Parts: sequence; C-alpha cells; structure tokens
Amino acid sequence: MGRYSVKRYKTKRMTRQLDQIFDDLSTPESIQKLKNQEEDETLPGMGQYYCVQCAKYFFDNTSLKGHIRGKVHKRRVKELKVKPYTPEEADFAAGVNVEKYLDRVNKYKNEEEQRRLMEAELLKNQTEEYELRDRQKWEQMYPEKAVEEAQKKLEQESLEKKRALKKAQKYELEPLTDDEIQIDP
Ligand SMILES: [Zn+2]
Repeated sequence: MGRYSVKRYKTKRMTRQLDQIFDDLSTPESIQKLKNQEEDETLPGMGQYYCVQCAKYFFDNTSLKGHIRGKVHKRRVKELKVKPYTPEEADFAAGVNVEKYLDRVNKYKNEEEQRRLMEAELLKNQTEEYELRDRQKWEQMYPEKAVEEAQKKLEQESLEKKRALKKAQKYELEPLTDDEIQIDP
C-alpha cells in the first residue's frame, strides 16, 4: 500500500506543479517576470538563473545552459506540450457539460498555437540574455576594469593589424621560400 500511495501522491503533486507552470507560461508578462527576478540571496544563484518550464533555480548561467541542453529539461518541455487534464474532460467523459468542453477545446486550438510561439520566442535566447545582463552588471560594478579591458582589446587589435600588414608586405617583397611554405602554410 505504501508504495502505491506514495506514487499517487507524487503524480498528484506533479500535476499541480504542471498546472502552475502552464499558468506561468500563459502570458508574456508572466514569462518576463519569471525570467527577470529580483536578486534574492536565499535562492541558488541569487535567483538570477531560472528555468521557467521546470520552475527551478540554478547557481549560474553555465549550469542553466547545461540543464537546458539536458534530458530532464527536454522531457519537461514535452510534458508541457500535452494539454493539462481538466475537470471539463471528466464531465465530457461522463456525458455532462459537453458543450462547455467543446468550447474549451476550440478555444484551446485557437490560442495554444499563438501561446506556444510566444513562449518559444521569449525563452529562445534566455542564457544569452543572462550573459549580457551579467556582463553589464560587472561593468557597472568594476568600471575601471571594464575600461582597462576595452583598452587592452584595442591595443591587441591594432597590434594584430600591424603584424598582418608587416607579413603582407614581407611576402610582397620577397616570395616565400620552400621552407617557409612548409612551416607556415
Ligand atoms: Zn528546464
């Protein structure tokens, strides 16, 4: 009996959680809100790396990225494509409230495709957006370091340009020897 009731309890809890996630994913506002949460030090990663479909916080962007590529997340995305069980369905099966059920099915058909497109669009580049956001936060926290880094990058680029120019000039003046061709193809 023990095992059976634990399983049933788990399924019930799971269904409730999925219902909640369907709600989370139902409007652009609710998705945006969950994607961009206030910092909260009681949450993993200060609540800054959230998977909306799995309702789960991650410690950093790298673990969120890994999660999104992984099995658990993909399974969840599949689960969310299945329409949630509704009390209307039970009624329909019992031959009660048939019209109400059919209304709901029609509404679902019309709206669900739009909703899915919206969801996919909003969650498409989530980890890239987080990367950019983290970078901006870092630049705000350490403006001197950011300037220093930008300068180094510029210097490096100009150095590389000079080298490339020099190389081009050299090859123009003196054609490659056989040795040079082999070493530096
Ligand atoms: Zn996930």
